[in-house]
Amino acid sequence: MKRLENKVALVTGGSRGIGAAIVKRLAEEGAAVVFTYTKGAEKAAAIVAELSNKGLRSLAIAADSADPAANTSAVEQTIKAFGRIDILVNNAGVAVLKPFEDYTVEEYNWTMDINARGVFITSQAAAKHMGKGSRIITIGSCMADRVSGPYGTLYAMSKSALTAFNKGLSRDLGPRGITVNLVQPGPIDTDMNPANSEHADAQRKNISLGEYGTGEDIAALVSFLSSAESGYITGTAITIDGGTNS
Ligand code: NDP
Repeated sequence: MKRLENKVALVTGGSRGIGAAIVKRLAEEGAAVVFTYTKGAEKAAAIVAELSNKGLRSLAIAADSADPAANTSAVEQTIKAFGRIDILVNNAGVAVLKPFEDYTVEEYNWTMDINARGVFITSQAAAKHMGKGSRIITIGSCMADRVSGPYGTLYAMSKSALTAFNKGLSRDLGPRGITVNLVQPGPIDTDMNPANSEHADAQRKNISLGEYGTGEDIAALVSFLSSAESGYITGTAITIDGGTNS
């Protein structure tokens, strides 16, 4: 039996990058997986088709994490499609990187709405339906603990909100047997942070292992945290950054 057999997962932002790798890994482990996207309808459909060809169940829904009603609706659609929700992976995130003086209020609100408020509301909606053994896993960033250069102030601020959120929620949901954990990636080769961009070498210099990680590296950890084997881990942050913050 696969280790996530009979489980239902919701992954926010699953059409590309880390989220897509998580969607595929959880489905391969046996879960039925719902995932959200905003612009990537074609990519999302291709993932659903790829999984379906392997006999794996998934559903893609357009839902903007910046919209509170869409956050709640994604949870409701998950339950409507597959009858329950056992695993929530708060993955959708955005980064506006620029000189501090140049940020606009709109950029501030957009970043915080997706990276912090969306996580809060989606988790709240999911927790109402979760039973013992369920999992809430949030993708933060190693930049919540250490910012190694300029232009990351707003992004780091939005991700550091997740540190206390994760601790508090583990206290709220622990008595119900639900674990709550934060995964903090370092540089991962995706559209958000391509390993061949002009900013990549500066990041690479900080990585003990010398190379960017992959979405699959993050998905492997999320899969473990989703499984029964991780049942005594809660309220903690696991940094997976190739040694960037060491
Ligand atoms: P990408 O930008 O490569 O992919 C983001 C995914 O989220 C896409 O599927 C995108 O789909 C979706 N998405 C974006 N905005 C929204 C939204 N408002 N509502 C719903 N879905 C949305 O990012 P990564 O894969 O690199 O990042 C995933 C997570 O990992 C983020 O939280 C990020 O902050 C974090 N992270 C990434 C690191 C890296 O180096 N890559 C390092 C540390 C943390 P669509 O375009 O269809 O909306």
